[in-house]
Amino acid sequence: MRTPVIAGNWKMNTDAASARDLVAGIGQAMAELNGVEVGVAPPFPYLEMVGRELGNSGIFLAGQDMHWETGGAFTGDVSSAMLLDVGCTHVILGHSERRHGWGETPEQVGKKVVAAKEAGLKPIVCVGETLEERQGDRTKDVLLHQAEAAFAGFSESDLAGLIIAYEPVWAIGTGVVATTAQAGEAHQILRAWLAERFSNSFAESVRIQYGGSVKPDNAAELMAVDGVDGALVGGASLKVEPFVGILRGATSS
Ligand code: PEP
Repeated sequence: MRTPVIAGNWKMNTDAASARDLVAGIGQAMAELNGVEVGVAPPFPYLEMVGRELGNSGIFLAGQDMHWETGGAFTGDVSSAMLLDVGCTHVILGHSERRHGWGETPEQVGKKVVAAKEAGLKPIVCVGETLEERQGDRTKDVLLHQAEAAFAGFSESDLAGLIIAYEPVWAIGTGVVATTAQAGEAHQILRAWLAERFSNSFAESVRIQYGGSVKPDNAAELMAVDGVDGALVGGASLKVEPFVGILRGATSS
């Protein structure tokens, strides 16, 4: 039985005051929620403050990205050690806004996964196809190429605790959500690849989130899909009510 994991990716949104309110509101709701793991990924400048506000709420803190190098002349980047220093336990890697907005390659994502694991951070590795790739019947190839590049060279024990987020690019921030059949199929492709590449037991242990326009009114249905183990949430994680609604959806599915 895999515990669903829901993470809020705040992207380049919020300010310090609303971040504080958001954490307080989610923290309050945690008391009535069982059987779901919850995390937030604030913008870098707010990580330390949000970490303090999270206190012992049980909500984990995640970076939205990191460099694979441990230090050096990389203007604007942060390292794994810096994320750990401010209290992160997790880091989102390979988000489509990094891959498609900044040209990050599957191989670079792979280097980041190695660096995160070496540092002791738990990566949430995003994979997903564009609309053009889906329409060209290339979804499976794209997912497997991204997975192979991200996890090549690891053994299953190296990857313990791994979280994958299946995020179809066409569903991110668009209000268009994958159907339960589309989500189920993609998750099945990824889990079958994990079983073949590593082992059945490892594949069964990995949590695969769905991400792409998850809202309170579709969360329960998506979470009920076989093989969907939670969600990575963008827009709906920026206010207490919708985010808590999604958390409730995950616990009721
Ligand atoms: C995301 O950015 O990972 C995401 C899924 O965004 P949204 O929920 O807004 O589609």
